[in-house]
Amino acid sequence: QVSSEPRRTTKETHPHLPPGLILDENGKVCKVCNTWQDFAKINKNKQTQSSDGTSSQSQSKTALKGMGMAGFANLLNNSQASSSASSSDPTSARVEVDRSNCPPDTASLGRSTWTFLHTTASYYPSNPTETHRSKITNLLESLSIFYPCSWCAKDFQKDIRQNPPEVKNREDFMRWLCERHNTVNKKLGKPLFDCSIKNLDKRWKDGPED
Ligand code: FAD
Repeated sequence: QVSSEPRRTTKETHPHLPPGLILDENGKVCKVCNTWQDFAKINKNKQTQSSDGTSSQSQSKTALKGMGMAGFANLLNNSQASSSASSSDPTSARVEVDRSNCPPDTASLGRSTWTFLHTTASYYPSNPTETHRSKITNLLESLSIFYPCSWCAKDFQKDIRQNPPEVKNREDFMRWLCERHNTVNKKLGKPLFDCSIKNLDKRWKDGPED
């Protein structure tokens, strides 16, 4: 969750929640701006008691309910129940819980969006028409405005302003997109991807050789 954009987080405004959860423009915890691991930190505090005798987890839950997050609070409870008793790692619940019907967090939204974009680039024409070029540019610019993780969107807007979409053919588009994804990878401290067409085709179109 690294961004160069300033963000409001629970640290200043929600003392009963783990610090660092990113808030949306209405001051609520933003589901698509945080990861499940971030939410799982709520469980970490479950044993600690505050001075008035209530557990910090129950205070957290009350706060979550006030922010339209009651479902998440319940889910966290279930995650805890289904995670291995021997594990003290709150993120281990990821393995146990089926989240296929949950709203996306920032990681699953990101993976799905990159999958759509790289696959679209892989099938983009080698000789696009003027209409193809302008429509795909519109799509990328629209994405940078409407991407639901707003601080990710702002960084992406800046990045594509500095590096306008290269869409004059399939290979240029694939490489350009790979570089944009690498900009985010770098920001998040993830390994950079090899942007050769051979490697991109293998990952996003052809699969490994037999
Ligand atoms: P992802 O980064 O989602 O990658 C999915 C797969 O793509 C990888 O497994 C790999 O096989 C392949 N891949 C990786 N790099 C490349 C590449 N350069 N070219 C081609 N294929 C590649 N998250 C934040 O926390 N902060 C942000 O500011 C942020 N900004 C984002 C902006 C956009 C436009 C998008 C779409 C997502 C953004 N995300 C951001 C989400 C983030 O990029 C990841 O999607 C998320 O962290 C999940 O990462 P992952 O490790 O599962 O793999």
